[in-house]
Amino acid sequence: MVGRGVFRGDETVVHMIPPGSTIGILGGGQLGRMLAVAAARLGYRSHVFAPEASGPATEVAAQWTQGRFEDADAMKRFAAQVDIATYEFENVDPHAVAFLSGRVPVAPSAGSLEVSRYRPNEKELVAELGGRTADWRPVDLLGALTAALAEIGAPAILKTTLFGYDGKGQARIDAPADAAGAWAAIGSPPPLRRGVPAIVEHRVDFLAEFSVILARAPDGRVAVYDTPENVHQGGILHRSTVPARGLILEQAPAAIALARAVADRLGHVGVLTCEFFATADGPVFNEMAPRVHNSGHWTIEGAECSQFENHIRAICGLPLGSTALTGQGVTMENLLGAEADRWPALLAEPAAHLHLYGKRDAQPGRKMGHVTRVAR
Ligand code: AMP
Repeated sequence: MVGRGVFRGDETVVHMIPPGSTIGILGGGQLGRMLAVAAARLGYRSHVFAPEASGPATEVAAQWTQGRFEDADAMKRFAAQVDIATYEFENVDPHAVAFLSGRVPVAPSAGSLEVSRYRPNEKELVAELGGRTADWRPVDLLGALTAALAEIGAPAILKTTLFGYDGKGQARIDAPADAAGAWAAIGSPPPLRRGVPAIVEHRVDFLAEFSVILARAPDGRVAVYDTPENVHQGGILHRSTVPARGLILEQAPAAIALARAVADRLGHVGVLTCEFFATADGPVFNEMAPRVHNSGHWTIEGAECSQFENHIRAICGLPLGSTALTGQGVTMENLLGAEADRWPALLAEPAAHLHLYGKRDAQPGRKMGHVTRVAR
């Protein structure tokens, strides 16, 4: 495991950050936007630190600092202006988070980030805790990919170890002859200074996909949401539905136990999301995110306390809110690219809750918003 032991899970806050305080958020995308809205409802101010000049969180955060995460001076100034910091995505170097946590409380910790952003780390931790993952091999060169494929067999998926999201940095391999094309498709990644640039994993023959979303408080209390069934299209989440089908409900307890064990082991504080495949032989762990997650957007209207509010509550050391459903069932559908142009029709639907992220450029596949429907 890369750098295991460098960051410990217990660097996170254990004291209370009261309403009126300022929450620093690394990253200013739609997750930052929804976190800032939840924070504002509880009386907190949000201050975003992001490499871009603006983003979906611009309109809802009290302050925005443009800077590079590696810029120590900018980070120091940011730390001096916030009472606690969190992050909304994994494209932050854990060393930057560790640097920040030497100046201001940060949750989730650099340790949570270090494990969840690098695919081999998360898979090794899950295996250590008794969970199942797809059979996988680290890959640093095209030759290693060919050798790994000979071991795990096709069909397989090649994935970059860092910065992968929404199916990006992935290539499907139907037969060993596809190896060179797949390696080129993920950009023929050069070796990393620490760790491997890619893994290849067996393609799981799954019956359905689901996620476990939980919030963990500094004292170890955990609030777990109902397990959504997730349907992806082209590697991007299309729809989340709660309650999930019977098959998933049968496999959810084991998956929840594993996610809790992961959170406990990391000393995680905040929301943690673990994605699973439901297979004929039980749940197979896919990946985790140390943060609020697209498959939890339904909780804004579909749960008593949303994933965003529970993240804020957890990192600030407040009591966690109820994860109980507000209705009989909930669906959340992503609005990608031009799908967001359907907003007039969606607004005309009495039970539809429309969310638009304020993005101007509706490129195909870009997450522009989502719509949630709660069956009362
Ligand atoms: P990821 O970025 O790893 O979450 O992958 C995005 C989506 O690609 C998943 O939600 C699955 O639909 C699909 N996928 C990823 N890995 C596998 C796998 N090992 N077997 C089958 N499908 C996969």
